[in-house]
Amino acid sequence: MIDHRRLGRELELFVSDPLAGAGLPIWLPAGAAARHAVEEYVRELERRAGYRHVYSPPLGRRELFELSGHLGYFADDMFPPMRLGADEFVLRPALCPHHALVYRARGRSYRDLPLRVAELGGMYRAERSGVLGGLSRVRAISLNDAHNFCMLEQVGEEVAEILRLIRAAHAALGVRPAGFRLSLRGPGEKYVGDDARWARAEDLLRAALDGVEFTEAPGEAAFYGPKIDIQVVDAAGREATLSTVQLDFDKPERFDLSYTDSGGARRRPVMVHRSLVGSMERLFGYLIEVHEGAFPAWYAPVQLVVLPVDGQAEAAGRFAADAAAAGLRVEVDGGGSLGARVRDAARARVPYAAVVGPREAADGAVSLRLRDGRALPPVPAGAALALIGEVVAARSPDLLPAP
Ligand SMILES: [Zn+2]
Repeated sequence: MIDHRRLGRELELFVSDPLAGAGLPIWLPAGAAARHAVEEYVRELERRAGYRHVYSPPLGRRELFELSGHLGYFADDMFPPMRLGADEFVLRPALCPHHALVYRARGRSYRDLPLRVAELGGMYRAERSGVLGGLSRVRAISLNDAHNFCMLEQVGEEVAEILRLIRAAHAALGVRPAGFRLSLRGPGEKYVGDDARWARAEDLLRAALDGVEFTEAPGEAAFYGPKIDIQVVDAAGREATLSTVQLDFDKPERFDLSYTDSGGARRRPVMVHRSLVGSMERLFGYLIEVHEGAFPAWYAPVQLVVLPVDGQAEAAGRFAADAAAAGLRVEVDGGGSLGARVRDAARARVPYAAVVGPREAADGAVSLRLRDGRALPPVPAGAALALIGEVVAARSPDLLPAP
């Protein structure tokens, strides 16, 4: 069976070392290269959609998380506070409190809204050791997160736009959602806010889901509001939430967030919590399995390996330098038989291998081998780089450009 933990080890994407602690995986260079490409893509997608990126620290004073409600409603899932001098510090379980402070950093008017505050930030959850495994369940989480502060009448369009961005990101990454879920309050759990507020938030999310097939999941809401969850299923058949959109009327009140409307009156914004692709850990646990390690070329850790034959190391080196200058992640493999090196490249899921022999070197050409076994006739080196560059730029799941 496909298991991202085994593939992660074989492809040297990440390592879980008991000395570092369970649920605290370390990203190795290949895994980090793939993640970096995905992070850059998501940041650019958000930037074009009007998001403003920030940085905030993964811990803060206890009082911040008392105000946010996390210590009152979510303490069981948090690491215990740390004492330092007169203060107590908490590893944050979510980014929302810091982003509320970003909103509050200056006065806001209706012209500032929607204000979309985004961050790929660290957060921590005190998961019990029995449920930890690989990247899918971890204690240190790097979340693709944002909080969109908007007027109540903007919520519908804002949520619809978020769902559009989620679909775009899924298409580029090769995520195949298993379904949409409307997560609602359940009995016996702790929730903030009155029934009327919950009903209003639920109505807004139902309206945003108009035309989308979804299931309802009582008991899966956040403690502060209902949410739309986009589910994926891993190779073992376990379902997990990847992307999410949540409505929150509570935190704007707790943090006393406000804006001045066009008439000069002070009003309270709505806070929409959203993640397009979830945490980098859960996302890659899923992507490794769904692609069996063979990522689309645009985020493959190594995109091209150059294979010199019959003493063509110099020509191969020049081609590799050109590929690197063109922005590709490239390596040269000079040792062993050609057949073995082509197989090694395919086993490492490298999308393209470029063979440079005397005939190719004399013509300034290379012969491309694809990881799926296809072999292309020799083409000029520049044309080979243009072909790979086109596939990468299109974020295509295929290794050849569309005809
Ligand atoms: Zn949040």
